[in-house]
Amino acid sequence: MDLSYILNELGEDREHYFNAVAPPIVQTSNFVFKRVDDLAKAFQDEMGGYLYSRGLNPTVEILRKKLAALDGAEDCLVWNSGAAAIFAGIFANVKSGDHVVSVKSPYTWAQRMFDVILPRFGITTTYIDGKKIENWEEATQNNTTLFYLESPNSWDFALQDIKAVAAFAKKRNIITMIDNSYCTPLYQKPIEMGIDLSMQTATKYIGGHSDVLGGVLCGSKIMIRKIFDSEYLNIGSGVQPFNAWLMIRGLRTLPARLDRISRTTGEVVKFLKRHPKIEGILFPLDESFPQYELAKRQMKGACGLLTIIIKTRKRDSIVKFCESLKHIMMAVSWGGHESLAIPKCSGIPPNDFDPENKEHRYVRMYFGMEDPLYLIADLDQALSVVA
Ligand SMILES: *Cc1c(COP(=O)(O)O)cnc(C)c1O
Repeated sequence: MDLSYILNELGEDREHYFNAVAPPIVQTSNFVFKRVDDLAKAFQDEMGGYLYSRGLNPTVEILRKKLAALDGAEDCLVWNSGAAAIFAGIFANVKSGDHVVSVKSPYTWAQRMFDVILPRFGITTTYIDGKKIENWEEATQNNTTLFYLESPNSWDFALQDIKAVAAFAKKRNIITMIDNSYCTPLYQKPIEMGIDLSMQTATKYIGGHSDVLGGVLCGSKIMIRKIFDSEYLNIGSGVQPFNAWLMIRGLRTLPARLDRISRTTGEVVKFLKRHPKIEGILFPLDESFPQYELAKRQMKGACGLLTIIIKTRKRDSIVKFCESLKHIMMAVSWGGHESLAIPKCSGIPPNDFDPENKEHRYVRMYFGMEDPLYLIADLDQALSVVA
């Protein structure tokens, strides 16, 4: 399906709402019925029509159709946050006594689920270095039901060979789920590579303006149906109509934003790589990246998120660098219009800071929609304080 068609037309039905170009925000909790038989049908199959907005809602339907098509998936569900999508996708595919294999250091709230919530149900998780396909095979047990991937990872950008992992899982009847937030389906299509459930946070590039949270779970009709009937309705954390409308709005400009951000990042990366205070960068589409070949093979692009390694022995230098940035802001998240920085050392007790450990000197950078020269000048002046 044509990308422009998906973003501008698919799922929209303008003749039914006054020929308005922008879709209406159907801000309603419930829907009216004239016939008892129709109501009975809706009770039996809540996915078959509008009954109550915890299930289906017309504004959300437009978004669902677009996001499923973007992922090349049969169907999708949109959640109130990426974390909710992760929770539901995992929860729907494990039961007491099962075993999960996950990449090491997945997104915080996926890891928290594996470490804190699933053990309460007797479900165990093995973390592996997902770079090698042998590690997936070796970690698999008789009771393994789920493989959890995140490619690239959002701190060190480690990749998995998605096709190879999916193919092995299929042979063993193991469900595969991936966090595809970094690439978005514009730059990586996991479903086409054999993954069962493709998750992305919509808070980042889909929303794109740092003003809305959302999460997406794409998969087969059967799998999505199962999650709708159970986790979606039961958790009650589906996206709200107004937030869905903001995401439809974000989607209109997604390709243009990713394109601009990619080009800006390319310029900034060139500057960073030449800078004497930068020991290295971690960016999947940079030639220095250890998995560069795999990245080129399975990703169409990489946008604004990367990690720089500051050349210093002192935590204080990293602190000063971050606090000297005038335009690039210090905040969590990414994918919006604004450039951001977040130092790894903010999560490490100061006394534990070890300059020999490269990771302690990581600063994760996100480059947004600003002019590249504006960002480079800001980085240049802030790096000048690094000793
Ligand atoms: C932000 C993020 C999430 C979670 O999304 P929320 O919308 O914040 O709940 C999941 N995975 C990755 C890689 C993220 O960066």
